[in-house]
Formats: sequence, C-alpha cells, structure tokens
Amino acid sequence: MSDPNVRVRIAPSPTGYLHVGTARAALFNYLFARHTGGEFLVRIEDTDKKRSKEEFIQPIIDGLKWLGLDWDNDLIYQSQRENFYAKQLEKFVKTDYAYYCFCSREELDARRKKAIAEKGDTRYDRTCLALSDDEVKARIAAGEKPVVRIKIPDGDVVYDDFLAGQLTRSSNDIEDFIVARSDGSVTYNFAVVVDDHDMGITHVIRGNDHITNTFKQVVLYQAMGYDLPVFCHVPLILRPDKSKVSKRKGDKAIGDYRDDGILPEAMFNYLALLGWSPKTDRELYSPAELVEMFDINNLNSANTVFDMDKLLSFNKSYIQEMSDHDLAALAAPILVEADLTTKYWLETRWEYLRQVVDLLKPRIKSIAELAVQGGYFFKFDGEYEEKAAAKHFTPESAELLEELTSRFEQLTSFTEETTDAALTELAESHDLKKAKIIHPTRLAVSGISKGPGLYEMLVVLGQPVVVERMKQAVEFIKRKAK
Ligand code: GLU
Repeated sequence: MSDPNVRVRIAPSPTGYLHVGTARAALFNYLFARHTGGEFLVRIEDTDKKRSKEEFIQPIIDGLKWLGLDWDNDLIYQSQRENFYAKQLEKFVKTDYAYYCFCSREELDARRKKAIAEKGDTRYDRTCLALSDDEVKARIAAGEKPVVRIKIPDGDVVYDDFLAGQLTRSSNDIEDFIVARSDGSVTYNFAVVVDDHDMGITHVIRGNDHITNTFKQVVLYQAMGYDLPVFCHVPLILRPDKSKVSKRKGDKAIGDYRDDGILPEAMFNYLALLGWSPKTDRELYSPAELVEMFDINNLNSANTVFDMDKLLSFNKSYIQEMSDHDLAALAAPILVEADLTTKYWLETRWEYLRQVVDLLKPRIKSIAELAVQGGYFFKFDGEYEEKAAAKHFTPESAELLEELTSRFEQLTSFTEETTDAALTELAESHDLKKAKIIHPTRLAVSGISKGPGLYEMLVVLGQPVVVERMKQAVEFIKRKAK
C-alpha cells in the first residue's frame, strides 16, 4: 500500500532508557512509514521536568539509530515548544470545554481523602465550574493563579481503535483533568494532542498502555475541533512470567542488548515479528524485506512474550552471515571491555582477531560469547576447569603432554596437518586412542574442555604459545601430584 500522506511518530519520554516496548512501537511506525512512502518522525516528550533527564535522551537516540530507525526531519523536543503550547492553550480556554480552577492542593487532597473514606467519587467535584465569568476575572486580577481544567461532556467517550475495535469509556470514569498548570505550562495529554495535530500525524501507533490516555485525548481533539488520527494500540510485550516488560523492573534497555553482542539486524527482525506476522513460514528477513512486506493489517491483537532464546537464535543466524572483518570490529570493544586485551594490541594483530572470530563464529549466539568462549586466545592465567583437570590432568597425561610438546617444538611448519600427524603418531606409539591426548592438550592450551576443533585452535594460537602453555600444564600437573 503506497500512501505518501502517512505521517507517524514515536514519542519517547526521557524518563528512562529505550526499552523493548518503545523500540518495537518505533519499529512498527518506521515500517509503516517506509512501506507506504510516508514519514516517520521522532518527538522527545521531555515536558515532565521532574522525571525527564537529559542523560536519557542520548541513549534513546543512539538506540533508535542503532536499530536503523532513521527518522525524517529534525528531532522535535517538547521542551522547545512552550510558545506553541501557550498559543494553543489560548485557543483552548476560549472553548466551552475549558474552565479555570482555583482549588488549592490542600483543598483537593482533603476532599479526596474524604471521598475515599466515604467510598465516594474521587474525581474533581467541579466546585469551580460554578464560578461566574466575573468572579474568575476578579480573582485572576487579584493575583490568584488558577489551573485550567477540561470539562468532560456527559455520556460516553467512544473511538475506533484500528486494532482493538470500538472502545468506549463512560465520562463518569474520566475526571475533569488539568490541562494547564497554574504557571501556564500545559500537561502531558494536551501537549500530545496539539503536537500530533500540528505535526500532521495520521496514525498513532503505540503501546496499549496508552488507551486510558486516549479517551482523554479524544475529548481534547473534540474540544480543539481537530479530526482524530487513526489510533492503533499494539499489545504489550510480556516477560516469560507474563508480567509487563518495564524499565522500572530492571528489564534491559536496547543499549544493553547491543552491549551484550546482539546485532541490530537480529533485533530488528525479532522485534518486527513480536506482534506482527508476515503470514509466511519464514522467520528471517532483512530490514529492507520487512519494509517491503509490512502490512499494518497483520498486526496481532494478543500480547506477546519476549523470548530471549529466540532472539539469540536469530542472532546466531545473522552472525553466521557476517564477514569476519565486520564481526572482528564488533568483537574488539567487547574483548577490551572484558579486560582480555587492549585496543592497541588488537589494532596491531587484526589478522589474529579475524582468525579467532572465524574459528568461533559457528559456535556463538552473541558477540559477547566470544569473550566467554574464546578468552584464552587473548589472556591465559594458567587456570584450568576444575572438573576437566581432575579427569584429564593425570600423571600419565603429563608424560604424554611432555612428549607431544617436544614433537610440536620440532615441527618446522605448524599446520592442522602437521599437528594432527604429530599427535596421531604419539597415540600410535603408545597404542592409545587419540582422545586420551586430545582432551589434555585442549585443556592445557585453553584451560577449558570445550571449544573449536583442536588442530584449528592450535594453529590460530601459534606454535610458541602452544608450546609454552603445554609446558606450563605439565608443571602444573607435576606440582599437583607431589
Ligand atoms: N511519551 C509516551 C511514552 O514514552 C508516548 C506517548 C505517545 O506515544 O503518545 O510512553
């Protein structure tokens, strides 16, 4: 469906990091805009001065960029639009929906407490709706600073949600909420409505935790005389225990997945299928393919569960497709961060890093696993996996390792073939199975019992390192035996 009139947006609040829910909403908006040829905008909702923090803005922007969700036009910051809101508020106060309220916080709190005690209505009791125009003018002239409220009309508030169908809330359940504070600043729902209208937003695609706000926003749209955009509230992403994914519960930010070695293409692909279906059996799609295929009608209306194993399996597939060079570039900072090596060391031994990456690539589900599974390629402190050492580091294996070390030392070319031949000959001369030597050798050079093929690993580590580590292991076994 091509429709260049489509204009959508993501409106993150910098009150925390970019979490998967917002990232996925951003992704759906992006896919919809790119598929239709419309526009995708980003608005930073930083009007809540108490909760918004400057330090959250950059990670949100970085997260969107990392995912490849490039937006159109400049970023919009609500905090820079105070004059615009003031003008819109002037228009709003002239409508029949607006009224000034002079009730103090103490009065409101007391009434609320009383209502709770009496199990009555806790909404604002409309005391100030009864004030005459003259009285309002006189009180303002006398220096009082009222808030502005919206009068919710009687009856039901109804709107058609693209995904959830027709939704209704009785006006009895909606308070005459505050639209502007006594200092003249507008509140959240007002800013969202006038911004979305001003930005020409045609479709509001966001998490269904915003449905409660939507009823308030629908009344504001009516009050301002604006047409409604299409509201499309997507189901939430749940944790495996079915509770809501939330930054407050410590769920990961998008940047954490990046730091853990998830590739942006894998995250893009995984999030796209979390609540949307391509209606095919295939699961792996490039961002360009997803743009091409995206159909807003195939959004699901059921909540979905975030499945880390599935994301990792997507990631594994994308890792296999990457070039060693690109993978090495992503691995380098992770290895440095894990204190396994330094930036300088890697820069001067790029080919070595490339070989390590090539060797481990088929075995890893995230780039961070390179540091876990292949740390010994960069740093070895002579520690051996305890269980494996108890099994494979016997006095007999010390002798075999010693013999193999001298065979390795004598090799003039250190290749998979020559190392294999040296080990095979040694096994034959002792009438032993090769495994009896392979396991202690692997443990001696890597400290761990699992890894890539032994001979490939030896060649990448290189003859001097292999020989040195094998000697170190022999000494270790002998020391232990005493
Ligand atoms: N600022 C809201 C949030 O971060 C989004 C509001 C909207 O999309 O209308 O949850």
